[in-house]
Amino acid sequence: MKRTTIRPENVHQAALLRLLRDGGRSRAELGDVVDLSRSKLNVELDRLVELGLAEPDGLAASRGGRRSGRVRLSQATRFAGIDVGATSIDVAVTDGELKVLGHLSEPCDIRQGPAAVLDRAIDLLGKLHRDGLYDELTGAGIGVPGPVSFAEGVPVVPPIMPGWDRYPVRETIGQALCCPTMVDNDVNIMALGELHTGLARSVGDFLLVKIGTGIGCGIVVDGKIYRGVSGSAGDIGHIRVDDLGPVCSCGNSGCLEAYFGGAALAREAVEVARSGGSPYLAERLAVAGTLTAEDVGAAAAQGDAGAIGLIRDGGRRVGQVLASLVSFFNPGLVIIAGGVAKLGHVLLAEIRSVVYRRSLPLATGNLPIVLSELGETAGVIGATRLISDHVYSAN
Ligand SMILES: [Zn+2]
Repeated sequence: MKRTTIRPENVHQAALLRLLRDGGRSRAELGDVVDLSRSKLNVELDRLVELGLAEPDGLAASRGGRRSGRVRLSQATRFAGIDVGATSIDVAVTDGELKVLGHLSEPCDIRQGPAAVLDRAIDLLGKLHRDGLYDELTGAGIGVPGPVSFAEGVPVVPPIMPGWDRYPVRETIGQALCCPTMVDNDVNIMALGELHTGLARSVGDFLLVKIGTGIGCGIVVDGKIYRGVSGSAGDIGHIRVDDLGPVCSCGNSGCLEAYFGGAALAREAVEVARSGGSPYLAERLAVAGTLTAEDVGAAAAQGDAGAIGLIRDGGRRVGQVLASLVSFFNPGLVIIAGGVAKLGHVLLAEIRSVVYRRSLPLATGNLPIVLSELGETAGVIGATRLISDHVYSAN
């Protein structure tokens, strides 16, 4: 059964819904921030209540006259966020203000292909449905770990997603969940999560660098994702840092990702362990037969010099690329996120030192470089922000 999600009728209603997404408030407070006469504002708010998109919420404290009525988004509003990673899947259901009501996460191999992975996402959401977290969904957002044609809602030649090229992800999820759906790449939705509820809340122009299995960069300009002409903006993992470097999954050599993605770090960790450079990693390798980026982090936390060296090398290369991006883009904030970012402060210190040394003072004078504090929730919240931006826009 296909339902029609009710959308705002004009740009004023859309703007009011987006304001209310940041929290309910009084009519007087809304009047302070929108460019509408008081009577026009009340007409639009009353109409939103009639449409079932918003609802009254008692009276505000007096500001020295008649008490103003509070308004909030309809408490029945529910968004779904799906964050498909290379090795995991996260789903969440939020209310209209994008507060997470339920979140499920499990390991999942993207190489199983779209039918199996998307089925899993729908199953997990079904569990949240049975738990009573929603009856109907107002919209769903989904992020996938590869380039996406945003207009068509399909992945395009994604290097680490065999079988997903041009698969109708938006259509599949939209039909299964009976609601408007949008697809973007995982880095962009993480950036939207940071914009909505993370460290970037008050920052209009920032970069989010995700260092996980791959490396990508979300570019936010004036509060909006910049995707480029075909959707590949921010694909910084394949910027070449050394002509003679290792071969990358994309077929070129010397890409940033070939040095410091999760896979590259694991490979280098094995080399260091075998060459006697790290007793800790050698012991882990003997026990587990393999090493991961997490092992490198754990070794570094124990003060293991070999592991710290690996993180510093990787951080230096990320810093080199980032210094160029900072000179080019002049962001107000850089957030480092993703699995490898869990390597923490050794990584952050190295990236900071290279960027601050190599970029011009005017670009870095007021530039915090920080680790994400949202962790696994950035992607799912960002996915709901993506679809709510769409649903809360005038047709
Ligand atoms: Zn590459």
